[in-house]
Amino acid sequence: MKGIVITGNRTVQLAHFEDPAPGPGEVVVAIQASGMCGTDLHRFRAAPESGPAIIAGHEPAGTVVAVGPGVSPAMAREGARMMIHHYHGCTICNECRTGWPQMCTGGVMHLYGRNAHGSHAPFMKVPADTLIPLDERLSFAAGAAIGCGTGTAWGALERMQLTGRNTVAIFGQGPVGASATLLAAAQGARVIALDVAPNRLEAATAFGAWQTIDPRDTDAVARIRDLTQGKGVDMALETSGNDTACAQTLACLRPWGVACFVGVGARVTFDVYEVLRKQLTILTSWTMSFTGQRACAAFVAERGLNLDALFTDRWPLQDAQRAFLEFDKQERGKGVFVPA
Ligand SMILES: [Zn+2]
Ligand SMILES: [Zn+2]
Repeated sequence: MKGIVITGNRTVQLAHFEDPAPGPGEVVVAIQASGMCGTDLHRFRAAPESGPAIIAGHEPAGTVVAVGPGVSPAMAREGARMMIHHYHGCTICNECRTGWPQMCTGGVMHLYGRNAHGSHAPFMKVPADTLIPLDERLSFAAGAAIGCGTGTAWGALERMQLTGRNTVAIFGQGPVGASATLLAAAQGARVIALDVAPNRLEAATAFGAWQTIDPRDTDAVARIRDLTQGKGVDMALETSGNDTACAQTLACLRPWGVACFVGVGARVTFDVYEVLRKQLTILTSWTMSFTGQRACAAFVAERGLNLDALFTDRWPLQDAQRAFLEFDKQERGKGVFVPA
């Protein structure tokens, strides 16, 4: 089979790999949708890395096509629709056992698409305990999004303990920020969505944002204060990885406000006196737990949220280079590879 390898300097390659066969405790999934995630852009833009070629992609959804020895029918049957929690650890440390294998302290963490083959390919082999059944009401593309971008938004809102009483500013309306807008609005919160791409702000309104702000047109913090009778927002979520947006995330909060940073690449600096006088809570959030991914999928299915509207581009694997160049512009919605 052919799989996409990120080769750096804004290039990707379609390379040949053996078709995977499941070992004990493993399954092979035929990938029906493999989402494009912003974290892959960092490697796409960077200089080439040394080491073995690894198939990229960490937002997998598909159907089980082969089951290895020792996998019980309750875990996986051929033909079952599945998402994959895209990390696998030692399975026995506290972090693994509480559903956070990305934080494994046992020293064997696999991050699919990074140090183990990922999902930008027709087939992917994973341990059966990474599988999460995909509800019939959700498309494979929706399942893929929940596997990282949308799940990351869910995880951040959980960390922030957002309620329907809150007004939340969401900086960046890429795949994570747009998902956060959709989920927060569906949970009853008032969302102020910020981005510099006009079509991303339009999409945010369609996803339920109360107000949108283009920070290039106006002083974003002053506008947020105007919208909140001078008080500032209860919560602010930073997804863009932009240093200026990080500063605004803290500056737009009311006293006792909560900030959460998930956009990587930025450096956050703050004056302790200014922050402590407002008694701010500053959080980070790293994707989502195994159970968080399941809870996010259940919420999207039960509320009938149109997660498919996140996607503006569907690509065959052969168009990998074009797909990444389009995504690199960060102007449109989310892209997804549809290998099957
Ligand atoms: Zn991701
Ligand atoms: Zn572990």
